[in-house]
Amino acid sequence: MGVVHTIQEGLQLTTNSLEIIRTLADANGISGHEHNVRKLYETYLQPVSDALVRDRFGGIVGQKIGDANGPKILVAGHLDEIGMVVTHITDEGFIYFQTVGGWWSQVMLAQRVVIQTRKGDVMGVIGSKPPHVLPADERNKVVKVKDMYIDIGVKDKAEAEEVGVRPGDPIAPWGPFTPLANEKYFMSKALDNRLGCAASVEVLRALQGQTHPNILYAGATTQEEVGLRGAQTLIHEVNPDVAIAVDVGVAGDTPGLTKREAMSKCGDGPILLIYDASMIPNTRFRDFVIDTAKEANIPLQVEFVAGGGTDAGKFHTFGSGVPSVAIGFPTRYIHSHSAIYHHDDFENAVRLVAELVRRLDRNTVKEIQEY
Ligand SMILES: [Zn+2]
Repeated sequence: MGVVHTIQEGLQLTTNSLEIIRTLADANGISGHEHNVRKLYETYLQPVSDALVRDRFGGIVGQKIGDANGPKILVAGHLDEIGMVVTHITDEGFIYFQTVGGWWSQVMLAQRVVIQTRKGDVMGVIGSKPPHVLPADERNKVVKVKDMYIDIGVKDKAEAEEVGVRPGDPIAPWGPFTPLANEKYFMSKALDNRLGCAASVEVLRALQGQTHPNILYAGATTQEEVGLRGAQTLIHEVNPDVAIAVDVGVAGDTPGLTKREAMSKCGDGPILLIYDASMIPNTRFRDFVIDTAKEANIPLQVEFVAGGGTDAGKFHTFGSGVPSVAIGFPTRYIHSHSAIYHHDDFENAVRLVAELVRRLDRNTVKEIQEY
């Protein structure tokens, strides 16, 4: 446990929120292979929960009962990160792979990866041709993912098998959590969505020793990056009245991006998605989030994502409908080995979600549901 300090009246965050993010982001767990991340995650969830609830996909939430007769609130990040799986090993010992989750081929060449085998982690690099041998026309062409391979530094197939590599083994990007020049900015792989997982823990921690008019379930799903699959199983287990997905959004503050593509700025506050390809958020819930942020003096940006979704896409269509919103952090370079976020956005997202949980009583939830 880190040192506890008061950020805002009635709300406490610990200085180790960074430590939680670093530990979770550095762990490897692509979709369908979240086991290692989840084991670490449980150690953070356990001390701040009354009980742990799991689905059979590896999704997990900590239950905290504020009012046993109150509505059920689900707050969830997702444990998985994008990666690849081994498909086959060539006679020369090179490894071909299938991508898992959404990749853009241009961010992949010459990047380091970790293959998780039954005998342990094996480092490798996605091989690329040196410019010396590239004819002019090939230089301007994009290399297709199907032509890429991983080099783990072995002589042949037998050596690759000897270190444990087998078809089906998960491959995670290598990109350690790194502080940057401005002390609020950090760079890492898997910020999508270990940030959201850490935020769920911090919301539970913020509510320790406090009452809230509901039962809170805060934690993380699995297999989000392959089509919100784990959201479907986790929400079945929790059966909440309303749900909040906590996930990264695309920051629009880098060269080349226009306001037509992404509007949010790192450091200007958490984002509320007003539209994405998986959900049109419940209007009253959306307004409730905006009003709560204003009341609690928490900066908030609204954002839209034309081509992407969050777990809320599955949450809100569960049963006869579960009003949902997606709240997150503007993040640069997501779905690459080196994403960047601003830590104030993380802390403000935690403050915002905790304020929402404090206010979501039976009547408020009923009003949202009756929209
Ligand atoms: Zn993602």
